[in-house]
Amino acid sequence: MTTANPLLSKLNKQQREAAMYTEGPLLILAGAGSGKTSTMTHRIAYMIEELHINPYQILAVTFTNKAAGEMRDRVEALVGEGLNMWILTFHSACLRILRKHAEVLGYGTDFAVYDPTDQKTVVKNIIKELGLDPKKFKPAYFLGAISKCKEQKISPAEYQMENGDDYKEKCIYEVYFRYEKTLKKNNAMDFDDLLLNAVRIFEKDEAVLLEYQNRFRYIMVDEYQDTNMLQYQFVKMLAETHDNICVVGDDDQCIYQWRGADIRNILEFEKDFKNTKVIKLEQNYRSTSNILDAAHSVIAHNRGRKPKKLWTEHEAGNKITYFRAENERDEAYFVAAEINRIKTIDRKYSDFAILYRTNAQSRTFEEALSNRGIPYRVLGGLRYYDRKEIKDMLCYMRLVQNHADDLALTRIINEPKRGIGGKTLEKLTALASVRQESLFETLLDEEVVSSFSAKASANIEKLAELIAMLSIEQSNMRISDLYDELLVKTGYLKDLEEQNTLEAESRIENLMEFKSVIYDYEKNDPNITLPEFMERIALLAEVDNHDADENAVVLMTMHSAKGLEFPFVFLPGLEDGLFPGWRAFDREDGLEEERRLCYVGITRAKERLWLTSAEMRTMYGKTDYTRESQFLREMDKKLLEGDAVFEKKRKDPAEGAFSDGISREKPFQPFDQLKYARQQTKQKVEALSGSFLPGDRVSHPKFGEGTVQAADARTVTVAFADGTKKLAIGFAPIKKI
Ligand code: ATP
Ligand code: MG
Repeated sequence: MTTANPLLSKLNKQQREAAMYTEGPLLILAGAGSGKTSTMTHRIAYMIEELHINPYQILAVTFTNKAAGEMRDRVEALVGEGLNMWILTFHSACLRILRKHAEVLGYGTDFAVYDPTDQKTVVKNIIKELGLDPKKFKPAYFLGAISKCKEQKISPAEYQMENGDDYKEKCIYEVYFRYEKTLKKNNAMDFDDLLLNAVRIFEKDEAVLLEYQNRFRYIMVDEYQDTNMLQYQFVKMLAETHDNICVVGDDDQCIYQWRGADIRNILEFEKDFKNTKVIKLEQNYRSTSNILDAAHSVIAHNRGRKPKKLWTEHEAGNKITYFRAENERDEAYFVAAEINRIKTIDRKYSDFAILYRTNAQSRTFEEALSNRGIPYRVLGGLRYYDRKEIKDMLCYMRLVQNHADDLALTRIINEPKRGIGGKTLEKLTALASVRQESLFETLLDEEVVSSFSAKASANIEKLAELIAMLSIEQSNMRISDLYDELLVKTGYLKDLEEQNTLEAESRIENLMEFKSVIYDYEKNDPNITLPEFMERIALLAEVDNHDADENAVVLMTMHSAKGLEFPFVFLPGLEDGLFPGWRAFDREDGLEEERRLCYVGITRAKERLWLTSAEMRTMYGKTDYTRESQFLREMDKKLLEGDAVFEKKRKDPAEGAFSDGISREKPFQPFDQLKYARQQTKQKVEALSGSFLPGDRVSHPKFGEGTVQAADARTVTVAFADGTKKLAIGFAPIKKI
């Protein structure tokens, strides 16, 4: 038959079978890196090229924009560009449908999509309308509850019926009810509505459903294990007419149960769709066999899984390097040094990925990479110093240091909410400019402040007093104490605590993490002053390591790395309590979900994998001794090298504990990051000012006087009496004469 088909020639037998099995339900169930996504893209190409199926009739959905984009690229690489085909995320597919048919539900098709800020504004107004105590009830609290309801298709009325007479539940109902009414009135939908309303339209209007059922003769879903109830209904309804649905997934990679993903969708696919053909892929093409075996040795500990094992033709490859650092800085330093070391064998920075459990871990890596001049990109999260809560706190500190910093004051005047809206702020700014004084000075004027609402004026008075007092006291205080005062007395921390959401929780974690940063600086320099500290932070935050052409080390969470692959992967923080996180133990199946995440992390690596942990970790402002992760203990020890296998004493990797044969020039030693950052800045400044030009005369304390032969941004070559030397600008003690 068509086995000689060149389009599918790169596929193995099972993959090819799956690509050519186009009629009827198909479940491709396979482990990581077995070519599920590749099979799917080839399948689409085969349909278009060989079966001459109109691309218009194909729907392929996945979860992230990045994954959808990659899938489209891969298909276009096979069949050419410019296809009229839906390769989309769930959300964008729903949005397209809604733009055409929202009228079915009484919306105009030009409806607005509300982002979280808009949602918050709506809820805040409702809280006011209902006269609820805004201290007790934060918008985020209601928004979380509303989102949960929508995920489960529970309308306000249903919520009311299902829930008792509890005061809080009554409030949720009231807010939810009004929220829905407001959005409808404003002709707006929130993110959850996109899926929910698409499904509702299908349920309500048979003609519309038929239109899409007829259109989409072929439906495909990648990462099916992570679909939730609504996503399941969406595809199930669409597939009814033609029954050509192909889903691809791996039950071992289900990592979104905490967000409503239902692993049963994949486990029960065969029941839901009659006459399902199941194809299993067992050959892994991504990783070396050591990596694969390590992944298997961990996931095998999950009880609730279908047993399966991948094999590979790839060789064993390097062992998995395990490094037990002294602390998290040491850990980050090790990772940065390893990247530089491996990089010497002709690799790109973008071949490396650091995949951590929580975003709060990124900071130390950012600093270590930054200090070594290694370009990096933080994906799916902000760079540490760009995070809102960190910036806010830095602005408070800037204001304490300098009352004239209007920019800082503008940023925090209503953070947390003090009842100072945009209009009031505008007026204040205008007034300050007329009076030619700083915004802060204007705020010290009782008359001005008393013109605000009673609440706002009390708040502002408190704020101004606090800042003024801390300004006087700052020289007597440690920075960490000042920081604590600000966190507590500005109400910033409390406001987050009251929101009681995952997002707020992670912001709090970041704020605590920032305290570790301060401790670090205080440890290095017990007499450090606020201005000095601020200067140092500014230095670090400024070092620009964002590389536009993407040749940069990638930093992201393991969650967002799903479906991706990298030659070199670092998984840091393998400690009980961090990974698996303590919260994993609160929930039934929590630990198993963490273990699946570990499996996802390990299987991102193609060539080499590094695992690291720190003996002592300061996180969220607390320093603790750690215990090596349960997942490390579960791993087959034969596959590990380095600080394996969980000895007390740490070996210095410079002693050649590893076997890759790439030399390490220097022993691993944590180094002074600040000094390094300063040097870099100095270098930059000097490079910018073009301070050394051929012909310049310079002097060096050791080599004497000489003449510059050549210079670039980093080095200068000087002919001294004793010979020619190449010197590092900003480091070597040379002076122009
Ligand atoms: P994940 O579970 O992580 O999403 P996956 O099953 O979707 O993984 P792919 O990303 O499709 O796997 O493929 C993994 C790697 O294997 C890719 O680099 C791909 O190009 C390669 N690959 C897949 N099939 C083959 C094959 N038959 N021959 C050679 N390489 C292959
Ligand atoms: Mg995939």
